Amino acid sequence: MALIKCPECGKEISNQTKSCPHCGYRLNSMSLEEKSSIRKTVCWILGTILAIALIVVIYDATTISLDEQTAELKKAREEYKESQERLNDLKREKAINDWLINQYDD
Ligand SMILES: [Zn+2]
Repeated sequence: MALIKCPECGKEISNQTKSCPHCGYRLNSMSLEEKSSIRKTVCWILGTILAIALIVVIYDATTISLDEQTAELKKAREEYKESQERLNDLKREKAINDWLINQYDD
């Protein structure tokens, strides 16, 4: 049982009552059915909005994670490039050392 406002006097009355105890306004079952149908429509609209919001949130989360993955890939490539440069430096150093060793051998 819920309280509704009387359409005639505006006072709170039970939705189960057939007429308003304050002013005697007769409540027909049609208006209650209409209210229930309006409530169903509102629920459906809210549900749809919620579903759309959820899809947008999930889509956003997926987009962020893709961006993060791209950033991590870029970082990994840079690290690979750096380590290759370091390897080239070491090779150059080794070549110099080998040359120096050969000099002393002679
Ligand atoms: Zn009333």
